[in-house]
Amino acid sequence: MSSRGGSGVWAVLVAAGRGERFGADRPKAFTNLAGRPLLAESLERLEASDWVEAIVVVAPPEWEEPSILLAEELGAGKVNAVVTGGETRAGSVRAGVAEVPETAAVVVVHDAARPLLPEDVLERVVTALGEGWEGAVPALPLADTVKRAEGETVVETLDRTGLYAVQTPQAFLADALRRALAGEAEATDCAGLVEASGGRVRLVEGDRGLVKVTGPADLDFVEALLRPES
Ligand code: C5P
Repeated sequence: MSSRGGSGVWAVLVAAGRGERFGADRPKAFTNLAGRPLLAESLERLEASDWVEAIVVVAPPEWEEPSILLAEELGAGKVNAVVTGGETRAGSVRAGVAEVPETAAVVVVHDAARPLLPEDVLERVVTALGEGWEGAVPALPLADTVKRAEGETVVETLDRTGLYAVQTPQAFLADALRRALAGEAEATDCAGLVEASGGRVRLVEGDRGLVKVTGPADLDFVEALLRPES
């Protein structure tokens, strides 16, 4: 699928998580990363991408105005709408996708919690669509041994063959994503919803730097990747 220029690819940037593991006075998307809100990094990268035509930002409740101001400060002219997120990630994606016009062919959903978004991953997920695939997600094969435990007690060691850690951005044919989001279903990623509604989802190569910021230590790590000279 060729998608440059007036590509018909809309990005939904979900940033409405509370980020309770930070214990800060602000949501995770507005926590400080190298002197800017965390949200700035992925927003700037989506804005600069050749693969993305327009962006919907899904902001935490009461943080819509700061999100609009941030987009203005960054000169992010592709931002078409800033909407309020929901209680769950799926609810936030629903709110964002509701702003995507019917004419959009593809929706790319990205977590603001993954700031280091490479252009080549965007390219891989968007170009992997079509030919019978409704979705494409970046994935990395699990390198560690995986165990199931109850409390501290190991119950089982799983065979990691065929197991992958899946990241965002995740790209979908817009119709398939809308179908998957109809109703109240929940999942930790959009691909889970698309799979559950019968969509075929393909794996593409992920990126080790596309880490998810879940706690303060991750911020230090991302900051080091971002500014290797400091
Ligand atoms: O909470 P978690 O780290 O899994 O969130 C993944 C992404 O989904 C984050 O970018 C977060 O801001 C977003 N999210 C959201 N609305 C929620 C929960 C999470 O937009 N209610």
